[in-house]
Amino acid sequence: MSESSPILRPTVRFAPSPTGRIHIGNARTALFNYLFACQFDGRFVLRFDDTDLERSREEYAASIVTDLAWLGIVPDAVVRQSQRVALYHAAATRLREIGRLYPCYETADELDRRRKRQQARGLPPVYDRAALQLTQSERERLEAEGRRPHWRFHLDPGEVTWDDLVRGPCHADAGSLSDPVLVREDGSFLYTLPSVVDDLDLGITHVIRGEDHVTNTAVQLQIFAALGEGRPLPRFAHHNLLTAASGEGLSKRSGALSLTSLRERGIEALAVAALAVLTGTSAAIQPVTSLKALGALFDLGHVSRTSAKFDEAELEALSARTLHAMPLSGLEDRLAELGIGRGAEVDLEAFWLAVRGNLAKLADAGVWWGVVCGPVTPLIEDPEFLAAAKAALPPGAFDGTSWKSWTDSLKASTGRKGKALYHPLRMALTGHESGPDLASLLPLIGPEKAAARLSGEIA
Ligand code: GLU
Repeated sequence: MSESSPILRPTVRFAPSPTGRIHIGNARTALFNYLFACQFDGRFVLRFDDTDLERSREEYAASIVTDLAWLGIVPDAVVRQSQRVALYHAAATRLREIGRLYPCYETADELDRRRKRQQARGLPPVYDRAALQLTQSERERLEAEGRRPHWRFHLDPGEVTWDDLVRGPCHADAGSLSDPVLVREDGSFLYTLPSVVDDLDLGITHVIRGEDHVTNTAVQLQIFAALGEGRPLPRFAHHNLLTAASGEGLSKRSGALSLTSLRERGIEALAVAALAVLTGTSAAIQPVTSLKALGALFDLGHVSRTSAKFDEAELEALSARTLHAMPLSGLEDRLAELGIGRGAEVDLEAFWLAVRGNLAKLADAGVWWGVVCGPVTPLIEDPEFLAAAKAALPPGAFDGTSWKSWTDSLKASTGRKGKALYHPLRMALTGHESGPDLASLLPLIGPEKAAARLSGEIA
């Protein structure tokens, strides 16, 4: 990371607009911020960019909170731009006072025609600041005609530079940009100004966001400088964006990759997090057991600068691998929701360790809970052999060695081996063709149920 001074307790923000459900690409931005804050003992602010009242919905804000919590992210603070509009008005007033915000009256059509003329003459389509030439009486006449101004920020000419924590040294020539519109005709604010006002007000030290915002940065840095009164500017980090396997960008409308739908499909949150964070970085994609462990694999400075193809097909497999490595601790509530662990004398830890390696989805554990607790309808393939097997069951309680000593003795007494030996036992004991290792399941099933099932009884 091209960081000269040490990072001390940063404050970061994730700033979605609640106009849809967040997808894995948004999760990537949220996680980058969160993991960065955790790495340096900092704070994570969730900021809802909800100034667009028409498109913002409370249900989306609520789903974003739920989705983040599912990933394991609980913000230190939540703010809403819709409740902070007074601050934006104050900032706009300040910019007017210092001559950096000026009224413009052109309609969209007029601007369009002007741009076309510029292009026809081979000139860049940059706003020509014609509005700055208007006299007071011309402005009054336009207003009398019913025109309302929109307001543009007066950019300083020259090069704007910043040292991006992902992209390295960056620069943009403000002279080649149009003065950006900050306030619409109806008095509402575009994203640019409120974002800067909030970043200043909330003491944001690091702005970590997608590279689709690089083009805003030069403008925002000038607004920071104009409003910041000498306060330190935040550092910027613009990360690459995820694309679908087709190369297409992800959008809020690509519902299949929304966190909500991934959760409903039974994909593990840690698998989503690992894939979102590790795709397009220098670390190999791998299952993790906690966000902390994921944080240890993450370095903002190692995020690639080219777009990263997100392989949806990898999700299911990574989710399964995540489960296979997952410890019981922390899972108890989710298992209890599946009815696992309640009122049974089965050792939950031993059960979990026995079955986790066999699961594609957590919900599949319910099947194996049913198998160890019963009742199971045994599948009887070879009653004679099963009667002999029942007679050979080791005496007393079962332990981790019971399966081996039992099947070794059956091998010797019947001459069976391989599938002929194991398959009828599995079918009778579990009622299933395949499943977790029987050496671990047998002690959980216990002698009484095992004996009954080998005789074909439902137990
Ligand atoms: N609401 C903006 C977005 O979702 C936030 C951009 C930023 O992080 O500054 O893209």
